[in-house]
Amino acid sequence: MGALYGATASAYFFAKLGGPSERAPSQRGEEILTIRAGGAVEAWIPPSHPRRESLLVRERLVEGFREGFVAMQGLIAHGRGECFDYLIGEQTTPPALEAERAAAAALLLAERPVISVNGNAAALAPRELVELAKTVGAKLEVNLFYRSRERELLIAEILRRNGAAEVLGVGDDASCTIPELFSERRRVSCRGIYAADVVLVPLEDGDRTEALRRMGKTVIAVDLNPLSRTSRAATITIVDNITRALPNMAKFAEELKGRPRDELSALAGGFDNDRNLREVLRYIGMRLEELAGRGITLELPKA
Ligand code: ATP
Ligand code: MG
Repeated sequence: MGALYGATASAYFFAKLGGPSERAPSQRGEEILTIRAGGAVEAWIPPSHPRRESLLVRERLVEGFREGFVAMQGLIAHGRGECFDYLIGEQTTPPALEAERAAAAALLLAERPVISVNGNAAALAPRELVELAKTVGAKLEVNLFYRSRERELLIAEILRRNGAAEVLGVGDDASCTIPELFSERRRVSCRGIYAADVVLVPLEDGDRTEALRRMGKTVIAVDLNPLSRTSRAATITIVDNITRALPNMAKFAEELKGRPRDELSALAGGFDNDRNLREVLRYIGMRLEELAGRGITLELPKA
């Protein structure tokens, strides 16, 4: 067999746009999704493959790297995220749901909310980022740890292709600086993150999260690692995969939209990040304990 699995980001966008992908029976008679990108057949993933979703997501990152908007370090960060996703069972946990609801309330209450977008976020959830921004009235800003003009432009283009009317943080627009950070890492849009009262930072680095907090901003982080500095420094940390967190937040925002401000304030202000992170750790601990008790090896046919 040749290529076993994978789908390119271009293919992903094609698929989202209703582009050329096709289904055909495999040799074993099972239906296989074949995705064509740039004329070449690049991927076969049997629908029955137990890690299908995860493999598709991984390939989106790899293709983002090939296209030049995902940083090499972003691939490593993704692997770290996958590891923590295994630990929580690759589903939204009750504490994450609570954090997503509080975050939706904080974004709705904000006067100048901004959603920060890096290469991994753009590869994993471009449409969801734009949808959430529209629902809560937030601006979208390209904010890169490893900044280059090429990456900025590519990410802005992806967001526009997914319906964004305006994308901040590209070129000269990123001319304000976050104090205490060095070089390209400190550049942000004066109309965006610099002036924001609430910033959503999916997959952010610890130094920058701390710097934003020191500027007095409410920082909402999406980070699968409950032990990262980002998770521990943010105002509201959502320990969930970005692909699940953003749609959940958009759903909560829709539900909460018409509610009185004091109800939203109670939801956002009543959120205790330390307590929530401790609940996440307990959840993981209990889950591992349960799995250890039950046994986890796969049933394989006898040779
Ligand atoms: P920190 O700098 O906050 O201590 P770090 O240096 O380990 O953390 P970074 O590479 O700076 O990590 O940030 C990336 C973070 O994004 C990691 O904590 C990783 O777990 C998380 N992450 C990766 N993929 C996803 C995803 N799909 N959804 C949510 N979080 C993710
Ligand atoms: Mg880091």
